[in-house]
Amino acid sequence: MKILIAEDTNSDRLLLRLRLEKLGHEVIDVADGQALIDTFQSHSEVIDLVVADLNMPVKSGLDAISEIRAIQGDYESDWVPIIILSGSVSDDDVERCIEAGADDYLIKPIQHKVLAAKLLAMDRLAQMRHKLVSMNKRLEALSTTDYLTDLMNRRAFETSLRDEVAKAERYNQSLSIAVLDIDHFKNVNDTFGHDAGDMVLQEFSRRLRERKRAGDMIGRIGGEEFALCLPHTSADEALSACERYREVLKLEPLIYDGHELHLTCSVGVCEYSQIPSELEFIKCADLALYQAKTSGRDRVVLYSKK
Ligand code: GH3
Ligand code: MG
Ligand code: MG
Ligand code: MG
Repeated sequence: MKILIAEDTNSDRLLLRLRLEKLGHEVIDVADGQALIDTFQSHSEVIDLVVADLNMPVKSGLDAISEIRAIQGDYESDWVPIIILSGSVSDDDVERCIEAGADDYLIKPIQHKVLAAKLLAMDRLAQMRHKLVSMNKRLEALSTTDYLTDLMNRRAFETSLRDEVAKAERYNQSLSIAVLDIDHFKNVNDTFGHDAGDMVLQEFSRRLRERKRAGDMIGRIGGEEFALCLPHTSADEALSACERYREVLKLEPLIYDGHELHLTCSVGVCEYSQIPSELEFIKCADLALYQAKTSGRDRVVLYSKK
């Protein structure tokens, strides 16, 4: 483990450091409560355990661990087990420290065997924390990624879109979105089967991603519907960007099982400043997409207030 120790008595600190290093741990040491907090804040992601003396100058171990528990909030990635060291055998001290967020309390002078055993328990906690953090990362990725195309799913896209809208409003920047829908996609499924449809969705996604402008975001927001978020992009610029995105299916036919599939897509575009207050952003682009479909497909249509 990487252990952060805070102990004001120089000889105790040195002895503890040597013992921990002998047990195979890596040690960072500080000599007061404030330094403990500062070092914890700058290293919280790599520290596996905090061992803090109760009585220290500037800030006591008790105050320091209370602050550490307050800083880390609800993020399990910042949670670290804490052991308090103290010469006091008072039950009240034990109670106060555990209540403030300590996970164990060791009475000085520390017995070597007891220290080694307690570290084993803390190591188990640290392992659990690492598993939890990496599991949560995996779950986060699964819950925001579309399984078929590896693009953002609708939920993730809408979350990022909200962030982009907030940024555009704060800095008074233009922002556009587009909804793309493959034309007569159902025919692909009906003629060649569902696997062919899936291949088309994957290939369409790959081509969109390949030609994506830096800063644009792509999500799959429905069966064969995709959305683009185009930051710093006015309606006119969005129209020409979307003409290029529309081209991706026409550049070369998709091949499935030896058959050439000639596909097109329709695109509805909307600039943020153009939407009426009662309509949602994506909904406006959807209305423009509907117009693109009804006016013949294979085209880009910009939403405009009537
Ligand atoms: P339009 O030009 O009006 O958009 O016609 P369309 O056939 O593309 O649209 P429609 O909404 O009639 O059909 C969409 C089809 O997409 C129906 C549905 O079965 C299919 N679909 C949705 N999700 C998937 C998927 O994940 N894989 C496959 N293969 N097909 C899908
Ligand atoms: Mg002390
Ligand atoms: Mg379609
Ligand atoms: Mg559709």
